[in-house]
Amino acid sequence: MSKEKIINKKSLEFLEKYLNNPSPTGYEWEGQKIWMDYVKPHVDEFITDTYGTAVGVINPKAKYKVVIEGHSDEISWYVNYITDEGLLYVIRNGGSDHQIAPSKWVDIHTKKGIVKGVFGWPAIHTRNKAKEEPPKLDNIFIDIGAKDKKEVEKMGVHVGCVITYPDQFQILNKDKFVCRALDNRMGGFMIAEVARLLKENKKELPFGLYITNSVQEEIGLRGAEMITQTIKPNVAIVTDVCHDTTTPMINKKTEGETKIGDGPVISYAPAVQNKLRERILETAESHKIPFQRNASSRYTGTDTDAFAYSNGGVASALISLPLRYMHTTVETVHKDDVENVIRLIYETLLNIKEGETFSYFD
Ligand SMILES: [Zn+2]
Repeated sequence: MSKEKIINKKSLEFLEKYLNNPSPTGYEWEGQKIWMDYVKPHVDEFITDTYGTAVGVINPKAKYKVVIEGHSDEISWYVNYITDEGLLYVIRNGGSDHQIAPSKWVDIHTKKGIVKGVFGWPAIHTRNKAKEEPPKLDNIFIDIGAKDKKEVEKMGVHVGCVITYPDQFQILNKDKFVCRALDNRMGGFMIAEVARLLKENKKELPFGLYITNSVQEEIGLRGAEMITQTIKPNVAIVTDVCHDTTTPMINKKTEGETKIGDGPVISYAPAVQNKLRERILETAESHKIPFQRNASSRYTGTDTDAFAYSNGGVASALISLPLRYMHTTVETVHKDDVENVIRLIYETLLNIKEGETFSYFD
């Protein structure tokens, strides 16, 4: 399993469909259905919870439980205020970036379906060159082509409607995947591929495997906080994206150095259980899977923290996929890294024994 290609025509089709479907925080269920359809042949059953987290389970009767996890939600905006002239002001649903908003098309989700809009911006000719205003949360606005507030309401748009970007999956120069929401739709994709490979290679695990696609990560790890109480796992291996810090205007002295194409990124942080992380590193080395390291002070800022600090402490680790331009509509990852994260999770699972405590005192 070390060298052959993992992503095939069918998995790429799934990835494209899964990415192109919007899945804003709090509204993840249509995406979860696409994900569950793909995972279904490879698991024994599903758990779903009240807020939409979905878990494919292999060996549901086993007492010892291992989670592999990604998150299903994407950043978006909420309609917050409608002017008398029919323009919309927004607030964030997750870490949406005000700097990239002007001139973008948007999809506003309403009961009547999608209403199209654009983030407008004053023309270069009309701006005060001596004092250029950068885009900020309180000056970006959406125009849906309505003449006034009444027409906005007639179109089905109201305060609380969620707004996503329509940008679709594309491949850049053969091996770079580009889309909005690769953070963290790639995580759901990679854990789904692990489930597929376990099934196709007829691997029998000595424990229960919980392939977990959590909701609401972007607003504070909320879906993971909920589902870890339901599963009560012994081990959690989380995958999310991290920054490629080698593109312009990023300070490597503060952000560290990680790069797309150089392999999965293995985290050092208090929430990462050292013995579990060492197992992942040994696995990478023995299978010749390239990897990089990064360090986080205090929090990883990923669902790793939610699993680690639950149920009296769960041995947790984080394997990240390096990504360029996070929280923009052109997030970019390297296909080789995607395959290597899948490989590393897969091989690590085969390297975990039933009942292991990862205790520092054994
Ligand atoms: Zn994010």
